[in-house]
Amino acid sequence: MEQAQIKKVLVVVDMQNDFVSGALGSAEAQAVVEPVVQRILDFDGLILYTLDTHTQDYLNTKEGQKLPVEHCIAGTEGWAPNSAVWMALMHKNVADEQHMIAKDTFGGVSLPMRIHEMLAGVEPEEIALVGLCTDICVISNALLLKAFYPESTITVDAAACAGATPEGHKTALTAMKACHIDIINE
Ligand SMILES: [Zn+2]
Repeated sequence: MEQAQIKKVLVVVDMQNDFVSGALGSAEAQAVVEPVVQRILDFDGLILYTLDTHTQDYLNTKEGQKLPVEHCIAGTEGWAPNSAVWMALMHKNVADEQHMIAKDTFGGVSLPMRIHEMLAGVEPEEIALVGLCTDICVISNALLLKAFYPESTITVDAAACAGATPEGHKTALTAMKACHIDIINE
């Protein structure tokens, strides 16, 4: 693979069963599965996907104290990616550990490092984000990437993201715009 040539990156954030149809699922999250699948299939560049990954003692973590709903416990059905999204990732030959960022909190600290490694230090022209939830993990990773890549265009596809609530989705889009993240398909 000529990865040094790839200058566009797509980050698929937390499209996992627990956020779509499981413990923290919602109709809004289910409605973005198809747009996310389409973005993956149409994308020409490096595709990475993040997985929220907790341990059995989730409720004792800081996140567990604020959000006392067990979710994305490593290895469970709820932790697994949504099946349609997984099929799309398989179709693009990226359904593997090399393209997976397992993260134990909202932002994936290894995400920018992985991009750096996989692009052999070449700065991406654009990093696009899709997935869940707009107001928690999408915004966290978008701002994280903005800090690491100030000269890259960071794009969030509003039609391929859903918030923990519809209001949260809108608020997060506004906050990201203020930080010069391009919101498309709003
Ligand atoms: Zn979590």
